Amino acid sequence: MNISPLGSYIPNLEAQTPLIIAGPCSAETKEQVLETARQIAQHTSAHLFRAGIWKPRTRPGQFEGIGKKGLAWLEAVKKETGLKVCTEVAKAQHVEEALKHQIDVIWIGARTVSNPFSVQEIADSLKGVQIPVFVKNPINPDLHLWMGALERFSHSGIHQLAAIHRGFYPYEETKFRNIPKWEIAIELKRRYPDLPIISDPSHIAGHTHFLSEIAQKALDLNFDGLMIETHIDPKCALSDAQQQVTPLELKNILTHLIFRTYNNANSEEKLRQYRDQIDSIDQQLLELLSQRVGVIHKIGQYKKENNLTILQLRRWENIIQTRSVFGKNLGLNPEFIEAILELVHRESIQIQNDIMNIEPSTLTPDIPISK
Ligand code: PEP
Ligand code: MN
Repeated sequence: MNISPLGSYIPNLEAQTPLIIAGPCSAETKEQVLETARQIAQHTSAHLFRAGIWKPRTRPGQFEGIGKKGLAWLEAVKKETGLKVCTEVAKAQHVEEALKHQIDVIWIGARTVSNPFSVQEIADSLKGVQIPVFVKNPINPDLHLWMGALERFSHSGIHQLAAIHRGFYPYEETKFRNIPKWEIAIELKRRYPDLPIISDPSHIAGHTHFLSEIAQKALDLNFDGLMIETHIDPKCALSDAQQQVTPLELKNILTHLIFRTYNNANSEEKLRQYRDQIDSIDQQLLELLSQRVGVIHKIGQYKKENNLTILQLRRWENIIQTRSVFGKNLGLNPEFIEAILELVHRESIQIQNDIMNIEPSTLTPDIPISK
């Protein structure tokens, strides 16, 4: 994918500064939109104002957005505060309306990203248009669906692309409204290193309590921006009331976040020294594992010749018990030790199983054994 740097989408974004997007879940009234924007502009360093105009609601009968008359309110925000503005589009007609009203950035919501027909319709409607498009992750933890949506926009000639990580539907009660599954966002970054990723702590958290914790984690993972729902009067919000903060609360959150840099003048050299140590330790770990595998081959062969069972439960319990104590005495996390032992044991059983089931004539005499 051909991707332009985030700074080129938002000209007032200083180098190295995470992009801050703030604004209400939904545009409700002109006064609510404008007053929220005024206070965001006055108290915070946000670069981009958000407000949902068309709201894809899970069940009918909920507030489904104010519709296109809200776009004029976003234009008023631009004029009065100088903030750039963004909104969610879910079909080609929304794109057409948004472009008529000089919306600066559009985003595709989680429910829409889950439907390739809708994504393609929006991507087709953007052919020949230059507008940044931010793509939320789909509702379900499907990296390919997320990548596929980004690729559809890229194929339509949109190169000002960013991903928004808003978490995944949890199927059961969890601490957060949506499970972050950070590894999926990290994998997206690994596949597309130039693609900016913005964190949406509001939709992950579902509640204002957890916003700072999630935002800090995203910054620590080198995310490129934050989208935080902000409302002049959250308790009266028509959608997502529990997760919205006031502009002053947003200011407080942003002031307490630690903005780290990817590297500094000395970090390359210092990290290289530590990484050399890690490289050498990893090499030793692998050599030890190879020696262990060598012994397992001998045990497997012995059990086969003597018709003994592979699984010897008491021995396995003894391994877990003694290694947990060793590990604990060495200051290691017991869950980490147990997870490693599980893997090592599974591999050991697999190797012995293979040995038991190989005909004697095909058994290779020179199985790698310890040096
Ligand atoms: C939103 O940003 O208000 C929204 C509807 O988000 P999502 O698509 O992540 O549910
Ligand atoms: Mn919302």
